[in-house]
Amino acid sequence: MLNIVLFGPPGAGKGTQSKKLCEAYHLIHLSTGDLLRDEISRVTELGMQAKSIMDKGELVSDEIVIAMIDAKLNANPQAKGFIFDGFPRTQAQAQALDELLEKRNAPISMMIALEVNDVELLHRLLLRGAESGRPDDRDENVIRRRIFNYNNQTAPLKKYYSQQNKFHSVYGMGTVENIFELLCATIDNKTQIKKPYHDGTVTIADVSMEDEPAKHLRAIKETPKTNLAKKAIVKKKVAAKPAKKIAKKSAPKKAKAKTKPVKKAIAKKVVKKAAAKKVVKKAALKKAKKIKKITAKKKVVAKKTTKKSSKKRK
Ligand code: ADP
Repeated sequence: MLNIVLFGPPGAGKGTQSKKLCEAYHLIHLSTGDLLRDEISRVTELGMQAKSIMDKGELVSDEIVIAMIDAKLNANPQAKGFIFDGFPRTQAQAQALDELLEKRNAPISMMIALEVNDVELLHRLLLRGAESGRPDDRDENVIRRRIFNYNNQTAPLKKYYSQQNKFHSVYGMGTVENIFELLCATIDNKTQIKKPYHDGTVTIADVSMEDEPAKHLRAIKETPKTNLAKKAIVKKKVAAKPAKKIAKKSAPKKAKAKTKPVKKAIAKKVVKKAAAKKVVKKAALKKAKKIKKITAKKKVVAKKTTKKSSKKRK
């Protein structure tokens, strides 16, 4: 079972990426934000209770969200795995999730944090608010409150998952396709090759924002992709073109270094073959010359003997 916690501040792109990952890896998307909004739209008691809290940018109580997740896990016993989006957001929720999954013998496989800076988050959320009308995205103060709560209550969970060696960080600024590629590479590294380039000990604080994209794109280039990720990427080949461009820019020497030795090796082989041919030709010529000499000698001997015999006859 593949259970992934997709982690990140409001507006990091968890929802968008979760949907793509669920499609690529056949997982079920569990978003507590979506579940709560569904309760609100159905005007349930729980929904009404949650709405006032959400509109202020505060966190709904742990009991409510944990119960919602428990119910969803029970409703999907055949699932190949889940993507937890927006859950857990507190230490209590993280512990509860571990317990819920332990009961089902299917622990969290990994936690991936999408890293996006606060300025970009504010910009994205205000844009989303204007487009979708989501109340908590329209008010800048509420957005700031949510980011504040994330930094205070949720971000510390990086340590929780780091201690379990499950923490991975992905640079969340770029095109949707680029980020999706990074996420796939991270998942594949951890699950298939068992050779993670982010082993949970490195945090975003250790890597400057400028270094991050180049580092991840390099990692992708050096990582053989599994069929699943390949399929998902091939699907969007046209949209993924910019990723290739950035990858080339960030690691031009590496890319050349990979092709040069191959070309050199081929050239060497060709030269060797030609040299071998020359040797064979030379040997053949030598042999031919020898044969010529021998036959010439034989002819002389033959001439001499015929001369002698004719003299004798005389
Ligand atoms: P975003 O991540 O952009 O804030 P979400 O849709 O994930 O959007 O969440 C919207 C709101 O729903 C949150 O601001 C919070 O009030 C509430 N919420 C969602 N998930 C949780 C959770 N795990 N714990 C507490 N509150 C939550």
